[in-house]
Amino acid sequence: MAKDFYKILGVEKNASEAEIKKAFRSAARKYHPDQATGDKKEAEAKFKEISEAYETLGDKQKRANYDRFGSSANFGGGNGGGGAGGFNAGGFDFSGGGFNFEGGGIGDIFETFFGGGGGGAKSRGPARGANLELRLKIKFEEAIFGTTAEFRADRLAQCEHCDGTGGEPGAKIAECKTCHGTGEVTTVRQTVFGAMQHRAVCPDCEGEGKTFEKKCSVCHGTGRARKMEKLKVKIPAGVENGAVIRLAGQGEAGAKGGQAGDLFLQITVEPSREFERRSADIFSTQKINFIEATLGNEIAVKTVHGNVKLKIPAGTQSHTNFKIKNYGAPKLNSSERGDHLVKILVEIPKKLSRKEKELFEKLATEAGVNIR
Ligand SMILES: [Zn+2]
Ligand SMILES: [Zn+2]
Repeated sequence: MAKDFYKILGVEKNASEAEIKKAFRSAARKYHPDQATGDKKEAEAKFKEISEAYETLGDKQKRANYDRFGSSANFGGGNGGGGAGGFNAGGFDFSGGGFNFEGGGIGDIFETFFGGGGGGAKSRGPARGANLELRLKIKFEEAIFGTTAEFRADRLAQCEHCDGTGGEPGAKIAECKTCHGTGEVTTVRQTVFGAMQHRAVCPDCEGEGKTFEKKCSVCHGTGRARKMEKLKVKIPAGVENGAVIRLAGQGEAGAKGGQAGDLFLQITVEPSREFERRSADIFSTQKINFIEATLGNEIAVKTVHGNVKLKIPAGTQSHTNFKIKNYGAPKLNSSERGDHLVKILVEIPKKLSRKEKELFEKLATEAGVNIR
């Protein structure tokens, strides 16, 4: 990866010349080997780094080149590879666009070139990388409490040899030979109306008028190479089956240092054996003894948040539902939770001891039930 000169100087990418100058001055003062306190070697290295950054960013033309060819695309490793993307549930329609999510296993990769695929919309500048779609399976509990999930993505990443610039390291930037620096190519065709000129953006420099004198020997000037990478994504608590998380800039790398595409992760939530979830509410069933149902009792109900005591009133009928408020799943982007709803199933014993049988017979007499 090329160094991020903006980061080194501690300025924004859109910083003005004056801001850059000021940042350099104060950093240089701090790390100047003659003035720095502490580790001399470290200060020296830092000073060198700052000078190098200013040499580029302090020069209008060099800065423009750096912005254009430098590794400013924030891709992969830089910030730990993800999780930064905003959550975008339902913001993307997977059913309409003809994307096929059927029959694929976890980690299947769906490469679809849609939206701002680059070239067409922008006639100048490097093309934006393609968006990427992946499916990610998570556990029932992970969807409720949130998690950091790891997944693998096989995609076009920035070429490591040239840091995505497409130029062989050390190669000079020179006038494009194809368009002689004009950024355009003109073709002339003879038609019945005479010679017709057709002008198009130069394919070699994408309209920049400049290219590297020597193309990168690894990626042959595209600035990209296919790579399998492990990525991490933060799954928000309360995410639902089918939700889509957008990871900005985690799609495929753009050509020649162009902006990376986005990665769309469709979340599949594994079902639970004990619980059923409908949006933020969670449902379960629980068996109780018929004596408890008759006399009433306090029982423990298993919820995703642990066991909760529930008072069953005397005379509770089978299939009665009880609501335990706020013990459901968290609602997305909210501090609220859904409810837990438990359906009580009353069990009748299949076998009785001799003593129990006697007691029931007494009970039958007492209740006036005639047992034949
Ligand atoms: Zn050209
Ligand atoms: Zn390369």
